[in-house]
Order: sequence, then C-alpha cells, then structure tokens
Amino acid sequence: MDDQGCPRCKTTKYRNPSLKLMVNVCGHTLCENCVEMLFVRGSGNCVQCDTPLRKSNFRVQLFEDPAVDKEVEIRKKVLKIYNKRDFDFPGLREYNDFLEQVEDIVFNLTNNIDVENTKLRMEQYQKENRDLIQRNKVKLSREHEDLEELLLQEQQGNEQRRLDLLQEEQRQLQAKRKNKQALLDELEKSQLPATILLAQHKVRAAKLETQIEQQKLAVKPTNLFSTGIHMRQTVSLQPVPKIEEVLYQYKALHVETYGPLVPELEQLGRLGYLNHVRAAMPQDTAGGYTSALACHRAVQDAFSGMFVFKR
Ligand SMILES: [Zn+2]
Ligand SMILES: [Zn+2]
Repeated sequence: MDDQGCPRCKTTKYRNPSLKLMVNVCGHTLCENCVEMLFVRGSGNCVQCDTPLRKSNFRVQLFEDPAVDKEVEIRKKVLKIYNKRDFDFPGLREYNDFLEQVEDIVFNLTNNIDVENTKLRMEQYQKENRDLIQRNKVKLSREHEDLEELLLQEQQGNEQRRLDLLQEEQRQLQAKRKNKQALLDELEKSQLPATILLAQHKVRAAKLETQIEQQKLAVKPTNLFSTGIHMRQTVSLQPVPKIEEVLYQYKALHVETYGPLVPELEQLGRLGYLNHVRAAMPQDTAGGYTSALACHRAVQDAFSGMFVFKR
C-alpha cells in the first residue's frame, strides 16, 4: 500500500501520524496545513488539476482513496435532485432506467467524463421536475421525522419499562423482608412451637413467590417497533407479482472449427474412440462422470486445432 500523504508538501502519515488529509470536489488531496496556506483568501485553484475551489468545500478525507470521497459528495448532490422513488414510476422497468441514469451521471461526474453535458442534463432534469423534486424533498423529510418520532416513542417505552421493572423489584424485596420480619416477631411472641411457625412462614413465602411470578408474566410486552410494524401484526407473505417477459431462449453453442466435424457424444463408442480410454470405475461415476464425457472433451480439443488442407 502506498503511504498516504500530501502531494504538495510531501508529508506522509508515516512521518506525521496526526496528518489530516483534506479532499475537495475535484477529488484531489491536500493536507490541512497546505489548505490553510493556499486558501487563505477562501478560494483558489487545485494544485493538481487547476479547478477553482472554495476553502469551505474541503472535507476531511474519510476513505483511503480520495476518489471515493469525491464520489460520495457527488452522489449526495445528484440524489438531492434525482430524488424520485419507486412509486413515482409506472413500473419497475422505468424505475430501473431512472436508477441507471443516476449511476451514469454519478460515474461521469466522478471520472470527469463529459462533465459539461452531464451538468446540462442535470439542469434540464431539475427544470423539468422542479415541483416533483420539491414535493419529494418535503415527503422525505416528513418520513424522516415520523421515523424519529417512532424511535423516540420506542426509547421512552423502554425507559418506562425499565422503571416499572425497578419499582416492581423494590416492592418484591420489601414484601420478602416484611415476611421475614413477621417470622422473627412470631418466634419472639407466639406460644406455638418454632417448627410450626417456620412451616407457616414457608407457606407464606411460597405464596409470595407465585404472586411475583404471576406479576412477571403480566408485564406488558412492547407493541411497537421503529420499523413501524406492530408486534403480532401479520405481515403479508404473498409472493411478489410475477412480471411476464419473453423467456430466454436457449440456443446450442455452435463452435466454428476448421477441422473435420467432432463426432457426437453418443457416436464415440460406435466409432471406436472409447476402445483406448480407461473405463470409469464405480467410484468415478459418483459425480456424473463417464469415460465418454472425458473422451469427448479430448476429441473436441484435438479437432478444434485441425485444419483441412485442400490441394
Ligand atoms: Zn501539505
Ligand atoms: Zn484537483
């Protein structure tokens, strides 16, 4: 692996482990110090590709390959405009075409291919879909809020359950302590023999235990998940509707050889090819192997290299 470093001042992570590499929209790296030095006035040109850059667009390089950082940034920007989702399309095919279009744009911008035209395409799309983009943006943020709300509810539910459990445990502990104290009191005051008192105490303790067990069973289970699916709700497991398309037609592969025609697999025995091939042992045939198969391969190989000479 190459040691990561700043292309300008040549400092490497090896020599300076605290080196902070930054990357800008063009995907070229500079260290933090060089950024400070070169972009004092807030903007300047990339040392490597001369693209005009703004200092505020420098980000800490997260990936070993700065091109990945570049792609991530570009993808974010593109997806802000191309924010249609599957239900905005009449069918899966149209949606897939759309996704492919998005990938093309991201790929072009990341790899500096046809940048001007790609940007024009994006602008055109943005103009044509202004309303939908805005609507989807609102919808997306609303869905995001809904999800956060659900997560919050779930968190609060968990906290409440924890508190309930704690309280319940306290109550149980107290009840047990009281029971023990009652035994001690009785042993002190009662005229009855200690064995009987002890037996009575045991019965009471057993009753208490069963009470506790019953309460544990009665604890309310959670009924909502952050997925939005209610517990014990039956989720439809119906098969996804099948898309009827023209089925793939198998065509036997035709190999052009220049030699004589290769005999068919079934003919090998009759033509005597198998006379000189070791017969398959029973253990060989387990995987579907037959001597004819191997022989056929060898004959195919041999024939494919042959040429017919015509005089
Ligand atoms: Zn540097
Ligand atoms: Zn650059």
